[in-house]
Amino acid sequence: METWPKFSSVAQIGCLADNGNGGAVQVTKIEKTDAEWRQQLSAEEYAVARKKGTERAFTGRYWDHHEAGTYRCVCCGAPLFRSGEKFDSGCGWPSFFAPAAEENVRTEADHSFFMERVEVLCSQCDAHLGHVFPDGPQPTNQRYCINSASLKFDPEKQR
Ligand SMILES: [Zn+2]
Repeated sequence: METWPKFSSVAQIGCLADNGNGGAVQVTKIEKTDAEWRQQLSAEEYAVARKKGTERAFTGRYWDHHEAGTYRCVCCGAPLFRSGEKFDSGCGWPSFFAPAAEENVRTEADHSFFMERVEVLCSQCDAHLGHVFPDGPQPTNQRYCINSASLKFDPEKQR
């Protein structure tokens, strides 16, 4: 007789995503006009998250930030990365070896600036977050190199 794992991987990812609806991850697309984003975000946040800009290395608010908590999308609040997966890459941007949940970010080939890179975007609102490189630490070997301007830190609640 076949035995199934007690928890499906989908349910586990759902828990990690902390979406507050008891497990299943639902990605609802959020679309706003340019004017609405401009109103909601600071000039730098807008330039990075909506116009695929890059903050200068070692200038962002989170590259040297070590508190426990969740890094949410500055545009829509989706939980994108967590302090548990953050590591010091020395590159001057916040770096993570994995997203909070695979579903919460999506990737796209980026051929700009004569480079072959993989862009990382928010699944929910298509905010530009940064790029992912295959030179990260164990266990994933991934390095999500993310702009602080695309993130908003949410400290872990004291229980
Ligand atoms: Zn978003």
